[in-house]
Amino acid sequence: MAAARRLPGVLALVTGGGSGIGRAVCARLAREGALVAVADRDAAGAAETLRALPAGAHRALEVDVGCAESVAGLMALLQAHFSQPASVCINCAGITLDEFLLKQTEEAFDAVLRVNLKGTFLVTQAVARALVASGASGGSIINVGSIVGKVGNLGQANYAASKAGVEALSKTAAKELARYGIRCNTVLPGFIRSPMTDKVPQKVLDKFAAMVPLGRLGEPEDVADVCAFLASEDSRYITGASVEVTGGLFT
Ligand code: NAD
Repeated sequence: MAAARRLPGVLALVTGGGSGIGRAVCARLAREGALVAVADRDAAGAAETLRALPAGAHRALEVDVGCAESVAGLMALLQAHFSQPASVCINCAGITLDEFLLKQTEEAFDAVLRVNLKGTFLVTQAVARALVASGASGGSIINVGSIVGKVGNLGQANYAASKAGVEALSKTAAKELARYGIRCNTVLPGFIRSPMTDKVPQKVLDKFAAMVPLGRLGEPEDVADVCAFLASEDSRYITGASVEVTGGLFT
């Protein structure tokens, strides 16, 4: 007998859904019965994700998560298309602009903070506001941080700082939103194969892979499965938590 689907009819907003981990999250949530809003700055990537989803009333929507006006536009489109607020939101949109601290520019620092931290703030706030305004009885927001937000990483002062901020933001949102039945958790991936890590030199990837106790780099599906759990009622007593999805690296 097939397992019962965990998110039937639930509207799930996935930012960064046009690639990598976000794309795997969209596929996993759709298989759980969710209606998926695939949101990305890259409209072509979002459309490609949409095409691969099982049949359903899913949509691809363009957004720049770092821009409040763009996020407001996304929320209006969600309401227009689905006539319900997103009760599941997974913030996967993120960028890297790596450079050693001694050479890192102010522009690169600001750009990474803008997408990774401010973008997560804007979308979390907008989704929570819509849920509270609708009187909905619950919701689950999942923010994608990174293990490097806990341990730091060479060349990633901007990225590691942004991801540490994401974790602190999520923990605070969890405290403030609990009274509305809205949970907020963070997943901390380790090194996951995706277009983002395709930019990392192979010898660096090999070095990290050799350090992973479970003996391999992660796949986007490894993170997506944890997101599906955190999105569902199976995790109903979990909020403000950070779940490391690292194969044991740095834990
Ligand atoms: P990816 O580059 O494949 O996907 C990131 C997506 O975010 C892209 O589709 C991109 O277009 C989108 N995006 C970027 N800026 C945006 C913006 N301003 N507005 C909307 N969308 C935007 O990378 P990925 O590996 O799938 O990463 C997904 C998330 O996981 C990121 O937050 C990343 O920091 C985090 N993460 C990844 C790893 C890893 O090893 N791959 C490890 C830890 C954390």
